Amino acid sequence: MKIKIYRGTHQIGGCVTEISTEKHRIVIDFGANLPEHCQKDTLSDEELLKAVFDHKVCDGVLFTHYHGDHVGLYKKIPKDIPLYIGPTAKKILEILIQKVDSVSETGEKGLSLVQNIRCYLPGRKELFGDIKITPFMTDHSALDSYMFLIEADGKKVLFTGDFREHGIIGENNTLEKMVQAYIGKIDLLITEGTMLSRMGETQRNPIRTEAELGRRAEELFRVNKESVILVSSTNLDSIMEFYHAVPWGMDFVCDAYQAKLILTAMADKGKYYPKYRPVLIHGKPRRFYIIGDLEGLGAKENCYKADFSILKKKGFTMLARENKMVFRECMEKFSDPLIIYSKWTGYLEGKHADPKIRDFIGKHRMEILHTSGHAYVETIEKLIRLTNPEIIIPMHTEYAEKFSRIPAFAPYQDRVRVLCDGEEYCLSPFYGT
Ligand SMILES: [Zn+2]
Repeated sequence: MKIKIYRGTHQIGGCVTEISTEKHRIVIDFGANLPEHCQKDTLSDEELLKAVFDHKVCDGVLFTHYHGDHVGLYKKIPKDIPLYIGPTAKKILEILIQKVDSVSETGEKGLSLVQNIRCYLPGRKELFGDIKITPFMTDHSALDSYMFLIEADGKKVLFTGDFREHGIIGENNTLEKMVQAYIGKIDLLITEGTMLSRMGETQRNPIRTEAELGRRAEELFRVNKESVILVSSTNLDSIMEFYHAVPWGMDFVCDAYQAKLILTAMADKGKYYPKYRPVLIHGKPRRFYIIGDLEGLGAKENCYKADFSILKKKGFTMLARENKMVFRECMEKFSDPLIIYSKWTGYLEGKHADPKIRDFIGKHRMEILHTSGHAYVETIEKLIRLTNPEIIIPMHTEYAEKFSRIPAFAPYQDRVRVLCDGEEYCLSPFYGT
């Protein structure tokens, strides 16, 4: 089995990884570069496209999740290659791309391409010639994200994708139970390491888990009649925590696009996770008060037009996006809203600062309430301990070289192999025998 990371050995995002045997080949993720994390010497999108697909067989492209830095270049993939993603992730991506299509005047529309993506299922093996892939659902700030167990040429590789264990999906020690029951010892681990360059940020943040985020949100909602949350529309674990934290007597406000995402997540994941179920008030699900166009939603979906003359009296929590005008306009009607900032703090100041976010916050009161979508060092260490791989390849990190110097990883430093983008790593069938 051979492994080649075309992009992502030394950067966060823009990920593309190839797994091949003598006759078969699959690609994992085909992501767009995040402008703020793109390394200067990585392949451009066009170079990448040629390098990955020109004159080469490809049995499929598997996306770990719907974030743009993993799925963003899907339109460029040759149309005869089958694409795969998780079932709920596909539904969320459809809503997302429909929105993108509606605002982009030029270029190819994406919805029909996304509708054609096939779905893999959690725990069910997919065969790509002699490459066997088992997807395992994992916790991340994108709902319905997956790790892949890859088996070929008598070897076992675990590809983590983006993961963590401090969200709703990771509660009750799910990661450990899953690894022990279904994965066990592996030969090689390809692990994300996003947080390795953000360890100071983790230490400064008093909020460690999504459950803690929910508890703090409840405290804030009780003492603020107008709370406005800046959160990624697809960060559904955080959104469900916020939704559940709204006290009885107060209301929940968002736009139709956001409501569709929440309703989709509830329909699919509510069966398994109580926090993905609606709050029942006197036996009926909490209403969504919709700002802007209802886009076809109505009483059947429990959605009602927001009327701030009433909502302001009762108190409310509104999910907002800084780039949508309707949210900016209604901010002017509020008396003294508290802005809850629930995104990466790097967008607030410094070289990655986003002027639109700064502008939206303006002089309003603000509290940062956010947890990372990525694994803390101790979670990565736990995964290494549980899977006991001979080789560890870091990716999706700016700190690949420093990986083995992190104290928690000291016992494993001899196992770490830092690859360069485009370098082929051959997992010999005779290794360790
Ligand atoms: Zn991600």
